[in-house]
Amino acid sequence: TKIFHSLRSPAPLPPPSQPLSITDYTFSLLRSNPAFSPSTTDFLIDSGTGDRLSYADFIRQVQSLSAALVAKFSQHDNDQVALVVSPTSVHIPVIYFALLSLGVSVSPVNPISTTSELADLVRLSNPVIAFVTSSVVSKLPFSFPLGTIIIDSPQFRSMLQYSRSILFNRQVKQSDTAAILYSSGTTGRIKGVEITHRNFIAITAASQFNKFIRDENDSQPEPHPVSLFPLPLFHVFGFFMMIRAASVGDTLVLMERFDFGNMLKALEKYKVTFMPVSPPLVVAMAKSDLVPKYDLSALRLIGCGGAPLGREVAKSFAARFPDVLIVQGYGMTETGGGVTGMNRPEECEYYGSAGRLSCNVEARIVDPETGEALSPMQQGELWLKGPVIMKGYVNDKEATAATMDSEGWLKTGDLCYFDSDGFLFVVDRLKELIKYKAYQVPPAELERHLQSIPEVVDAAVIPYPDEEAGQIPMAYVVRKPGSKISEAQIMEIIAKQVSSYKKIRKVAFINAIPKTPAGKILRRELVKHVYLVLHLN
Ligand code: AMP
Repeated sequence: TKIFHSLRSPAPLPPPSQPLSITDYTFSLLRSNPAFSPSTTDFLIDSGTGDRLSYADFIRQVQSLSAALVAKFSQHDNDQVALVVSPTSVHIPVIYFALLSLGVSVSPVNPISTTSELADLVRLSNPVIAFVTSSVVSKLPFSFPLGTIIIDSPQFRSMLQYSRSILFNRQVKQSDTAAILYSSGTTGRIKGVEITHRNFIAITAASQFNKFIRDENDSQPEPHPVSLFPLPLFHVFGFFMMIRAASVGDTLVLMERFDFGNMLKALEKYKVTFMPVSPPLVVAMAKSDLVPKYDLSALRLIGCGGAPLGREVAKSFAARFPDVLIVQGYGMTETGGGVTGMNRPEECEYYGSAGRLSCNVEARIVDPETGEALSPMQQGELWLKGPVIMKGYVNDKEATAATMDSEGWLKTGDLCYFDSDGFLFVVDRLKELIKYKAYQVPPAELERHLQSIPEVVDAAVIPYPDEEAGQIPMAYVVRKPGSKISEAQIMEIIAKQVSSYKKIRKVAFINAIPKTPAGKILRRELVKHVYLVLHLN
């Protein structure tokens, strides 16, 4: 058969019909470790403020906040959504776990979003309540039926200490939506990805990989795992890695805002052993002159995903950090987190590969033209299936049907192959998505902004290769006859309308945008053009 199965036996999953929230599942995994001491182990450390929260306090705060909130939500409606717009802090995991225990879907958003970007997301997911910090509340001029809760307020602090115990008669089904995360998937338009409790349970069960770094011949006791998260908690990578950390009892060091120097300081200060990253950070770790100034000897493992990691980058990282393993993984928002990775230290030397399938997922490689399933070493579109795959796009049957077939196979839009040992190689992106430093930039959104400039007749946005960011958004623009508008002026107009990571960073003028007869932009023609120009020079 041409279906690739996970190589390890899946960790046992609870029966799907059993009511269970990801909060209860995570806490039950934690309790199943008899050696674990919740009162003496820190779960969260804020590297900026030094605030710490032990596991015992964390669980208490989750229970208090749930009790303080439960009366707000109607008992029979498990489709209620809470918007969370906040920089990272120790409060965010508390809010996520409390809402999840109540069966309220968490919808976290990048706090640097503009008001109009927020308006688009609010329209998609229709939240009943919002949790925001006072620093971002002015960007959210919408009213929510159950109100807006300010995270850095005395009202919120008192909710964390709420002591009245409340009878919980809300039952959370595993099939209920746990999170709505935003992704443009394989087309330019942004959509709300519905991740269920079951998806998170399956991915948490699949990623109990603390044992990974243990060397059987080493009799030294393994240090307590401390992770540092330079990742935002609103993206699927940070969201699921945070749940994983809680399920295995890791200590998690958080950064409110990413800063390379502060990250190095925190790695040294907290003797960090593990850090999940996206590729641009591996580049910086391999090259920056700041790195040798810090003692990073506790670091054992880097988990890299979200965008392709170049072989050369991985090698120069390994030369600088010979004792640190890089585990590469592949995942997308639609898969609830990482679905491949390396399982053993010796596998990490497969530079350029995204590892083997994790458990609870199966894969096939499909010829994008004929739909035929392909064999190892043949390139085609990666399709994935299993309990980790999203429920669908919220309120968007059409986009869901275009992405998932009737058997539940998710079409990833990535051109990949498996080698004969089951290692996945991601070759190219068939879909329109641009990834700037692993952040999603939907080209169609930028094209809409460009087309609304009066002097612009037509425009198309494509990825342009960039060593530091992986890709930058580049615009091909058709000007009105006689217009003298410059590249810089166009970039400036767009920069005022979008979050900074979506800025257009390169512009070229062109006479006409290549299109199909039906009017669909042929972005790949433009990508080919860029490739040719780059290689002829
Ligand atoms: P997101 O939904 O933002 O996580 O983006 C998912 C997309 O990121 C995937 O469909 C891939 O195009 C890309 N991606 C994620 N991980 C990798 C990887 N290890 N190698 C190459 N591309 C990746």
